[in-house]
Amino acid sequence: MTNYVIAPPDIASLAVAGTTERFPVRRIFCVGRNYAAHAREMGRDPDREPPFFFMKPADAVMDDGAAIPYPPETQNFHHEIELVVALGRGGVDIAPEQALDHVFGYGVGIDLTRRDLQLAARDLGRPWDWGKGFDHSAPIAPLVPVAMSGHLESGRIWLAVNGVVKQNADLADLIWDVPEVIASVSRSMRLAPGDIIMTGTPAGVGPLKRGDQVTGGIDKLGEIKISVI
Ligand code: MN
Repeated sequence: MTNYVIAPPDIASLAVAGTTERFPVRRIFCVGRNYAAHAREMGRDPDREPPFFFMKPADAVMDDGAAIPYPPETQNFHHEIELVVALGRGGVDIAPEQALDHVFGYGVGIDLTRRDLQLAARDLGRPWDWGKGFDHSAPIAPLVPVAMSGHLESGRIWLAVNGVVKQNADLADLIWDVPEVIASVSRSMRLAPGDIIMTGTPAGVGPLKRGDQVTGGIDKLGEIKISVI
């Protein structure tokens, strides 16, 4: 047994629907612009540029129902509803045709974003980390095992703020679908069990303020609810 010079950190984890057991989170990969309409609203041309990625720390995950503190150093704190893919198996150079065999389950997540910091970094050619990878920035509803949901090629994905729908799209609109995204990451890094992938957000992102009640959902996966405090 390894002795550590300080207490080792807890393992970040997510709830799993239908069980009290939890899914240990190893890394969080996030896809940039993966819906054409969202790429356009961010001022970019969506036409088949290869997928690109950024990351959040594993301990950014929060459970459904979380009260999310309004983060520091931003005046433009945004919601991004996303399909989350949780990997039960890892691998390198995974072919798209085999990629879905690596999926443990799916979830409804929100890629919370300090948009002002992200865009300033983007425009200066600096990393996105401070805009994307901050504390509490990845609330995710209980994962739904594939055995319960099946694989998802289409289905409504939506988000509402205080009951007003802001994002409303279909998973069929993903530029790079789940098998392509898994294959793409695995060409650059060895994926491992416990890795999760946030697959990008559709159009309609916008600001949150303290007191907002945020709900979102994906067909077959249920809903997520958070509040901003
Ligand atoms: Mn996102």
